[in-house]
Amino acid sequence: MAKILCVLFEDPISGYPKNYARDDMPSLLNYEGGQSLPNPSSIDFQPGHLLGSVSGELGLRSYLEKLGHKFIVTADRDGSDSVFAKELNDADIIISQPFWPAYLTKERLAQSHNLKLVITAGVGSDHIDLSSAIHKKITVAEVTNSNSISVAEHAVMMILALVRNYIPSYKYVVEGGWNIADCVSKSYDLEGMHVGTLGAGRIGLGILKRLNPFGVKLHYSDKYRLTKDIEKELNLTYHENIYSLAQTVDVLTINCPLHPETEGIIDDKLLKKMRRGSYIVNTARGNICNQEAIVNALQTEHLAGYAGDVWYPQPAPKNHPWRHMPNHAMTPHISGATLSAQARYAAGVKEILEAWFANKPIRKEYLIVQNGELVGTGAHSYTTRKS
Ligand code: NAD
Repeated sequence: MAKILCVLFEDPISGYPKNYARDDMPSLLNYEGGQSLPNPSSIDFQPGHLLGSVSGELGLRSYLEKLGHKFIVTADRDGSDSVFAKELNDADIIISQPFWPAYLTKERLAQSHNLKLVITAGVGSDHIDLSSAIHKKITVAEVTNSNSISVAEHAVMMILALVRNYIPSYKYVVEGGWNIADCVSKSYDLEGMHVGTLGAGRIGLGILKRLNPFGVKLHYSDKYRLTKDIEKELNLTYHENIYSLAQTVDVLTINCPLHPETEGIIDDKLLKKMRRGSYIVNTARGNICNQEAIVNALQTEHLAGYAGDVWYPQPAPKNHPWRHMPNHAMTPHISGATLSAQARYAAGVKEILEAWFANKPIRKEYLIVQNGELVGTGAHSYTTRKS
């Protein structure tokens, strides 16, 4: 019998939904790029229902309990008195989502004596101290691709929202106004602008593809160059480094993982190189950007806008400066948690658990750490700090 500790976000304030806005969702055949969708032997949930909150339980309870496992689900994850901290010591498997991360620091991993598998229900495993996971030979897996296009769509929405000054204009309507001049004095067309992504993996490339029909000039920087065919198809300009990219574009979107190479990479020095009036959209991770540097660049109007849905820590405290800085269009961490994405990452978690309990290999693209090293997507997209 295994003990599985699952940390999920809280239910809606109004209670777990009884009804949903739509009765069904489109069914996809494959992910963009051809990877197949999660394929567990069965699912015990209704796709389109809220699965990522505590009562949704990722649809896993009946499956795990039929196998005789102990399944604990909680949203209580902060401090030494939390359910998470108390149950951690003898958990065999931990599941959490980046939106409401169960931070698995070096200290917490040292305290978890039985831990063998950590699953990210979603994409992005930076809330886990990967060096310690390597050292302790803990397997780390995520549901790669499950929400990449969800995030790409959110990033495109945010780029348009910033450039068109959508959110302040919406506020004028709600407040009973008709302030055309106030709204449009910060509103531009995206057409013709230079837009670039730092990181052109599943999300970054998804954004480039979606923006191509807008008549923008597309740029990217990544450790790995895309194929010549893709560069040609999207008319992409490749930049060897972030500095070259940042000083060229009007809109910079950030789509690389948070790891030692990228932590704090968007700092004062880099922001100063960007053209006045640039926009940044960061749906990757909050700590890729220096918190104060972003606030300062908005306050001095060097940046015209900043949007994203990733913060540090999460949930962001009420006084987090990004809640109150000028010209922002922040959301809580939701871009990868649409009901569409939840169905895919819940199925992906079940696929990983089925493989684990049957002693079968987990798909390579889901793996971040295994047998004491970065593997799969981990080897491609992450580095670890030297201990
Ligand atoms: P991916 O692995 O497909 O792509 C990541 C890309 O970043 C890779 O091409 C990699 O080469 C590149 N990269 C890594 N380090 C780099 C560096 N130092 N400089 C330049 N490029 C670098 O991952 P993905 O699915 O596109 O997701 C990217 C990240 O987005 C995730 O790691 C996660 O942090 C974040 N994410 C956020 C949400 C959300 O809900 N907001 C959801 C999913 C993923």
